[in-house]
Amino acid sequence: MELDGTEIFCSVEPFKKEKDGKCYPIGGPTRTIHECELYRSDGIPCRRRFKRPEHLKRHAETHSGKLNHHCKICFKGFGRNDNCQAHYDTHIRRPGKKDGRNRKMSLREVEEIVAGDVKLIEKLRSKHGCGEESTAL
Ligand SMILES: [Zn+2]
Ligand SMILES: [Zn+2]
Repeated sequence: MELDGTEIFCSVEPFKKEKDGKCYPIGGPTRTIHECELYRSDGIPCRRRFKRPEHLKRHAETHSGKLNHHCKICFKGFGRNDNCQAHYDTHIRRPGKKDGRNRKMSLREVEEIVAGDVKLIEKLRSKHGCGEESTAL
């Protein structure tokens, strides 16, 4: 019996013959791509690709169901608190800049909304300069 290369490959782990008759490595280094099948919060399929399943798993946690951190202004959800905190930045109106898609307000208004979140307020202040009414007596 004559063997061609394909058959030999197929008989040896970790190769596997697929429906199309070709051989593919199982868990091999070449074509194992883990694609995210979830939807982003805006309804668009995510389709981010990862080489390792654990990376996909970690990424998938940023999708709904595990979005434990919510913006108190627009209620957008975030998987990580630092992402959520960084997002508040986008709500702060900057002088000379046009308002974008997000609702814009002054640093002070944002502070009122997140009242109690001292760390976040500190962060925002250091970024946007405590300008406005610092140490007003
Ligand atoms: Zn994703
Ligand atoms: Zn928001």
